[in-house]
Amino acid sequence: MQKLVSLDGVEKIYPNGTRALGSVALSVGQGEFLSLLGPSGCGKSTLLRILAGLVPPSAGAVSWIGGAPKAGEIGFVFQEPTLLPWANVFDNVRLPLRLAGAPPHEARSRIEEAIELVGLGGFAGAYPRELSGGMRMRVSIARALVTHPRILLLDEPFAALDEITRFKLNDDLLALWESQHWTVVFVTHSVFESVFLSSRVVVMSPRPGSIAAERAVDLPHPRIAGLRTDPAYADRCRQVSDLLAGAMAA
Ligand code: ADP
Repeated sequence: MQKLVSLDGVEKIYPNGTRALGSVALSVGQGEFLSLLGPSGCGKSTLLRILAGLVPPSAGAVSWIGGAPKAGEIGFVFQEPTLLPWANVFDNVRLPLRLAGAPPHEARSRIEEAIELVGLGGFAGAYPRELSGGMRMRVSIARALVTHPRILLLDEPFAALDEITRFKLNDDLLALWESQHWTVVFVTHSVFESVFLSSRVVVMSPRPGSIAAERAVDLPHPRIAGLRTDPAYADRCRQVSDLLAGAMAA
């Protein structure tokens, strides 16, 4: 698999002295669905933000194959949907294209495509207050996709949703990944979510976070909702759970 980005010796100490990351070395392959799994506060978000260029590392380097990403080449989905309440779905999804200076005729088709992809066709004119939590998160994902990024980074995007909605969004995100061949890095503290979604799970140790273990998830695609009751899935979840327990105990 061709590498897309590597982190080498990446560390983070925040200005208040909190040492969030020890030394992290990690490569993300083109087309991979990689989950960063670890306990709360172990530095997963910090690592994702460093990857996104939102936070500078205190040491080490982030190297992109094919050059550093330009505006719009990284799609980022936060824990909260962070939508503009006064703008409808179309205008919320349009925001990154406006910031990137895309011409309006090209923008319209991309926005419509992104809204369609996340299953919100027909809701372009709706306002955030009219949408459910799951739908707002779909808008947030559409906004991250609209620029056709080289990588999609998601920071516990479904943590605040009820389980039924969360499963549905997992299913839909995975189906999109299977059809669109994106590169995804997904932060979660759920073993079940990480195994269901990922081609590889990277387990982090408690703060200061570092990579404690990793496991390729060899469950075949397409992975559909029924996989959740499959013994092979339970088996992979147990293995990853053991790795996480080992990382916590170390
Ligand atoms: P996770 O995503 O695994 O929950 P974070 O990366 O959010 O972990 O945080 C790792 C550690 O760094 C935590 O102890 C957190 O309180 C601390 N931290 C995060 N952001 C900042 C910041 N801006 N300033 C100081 N400390 C921070």
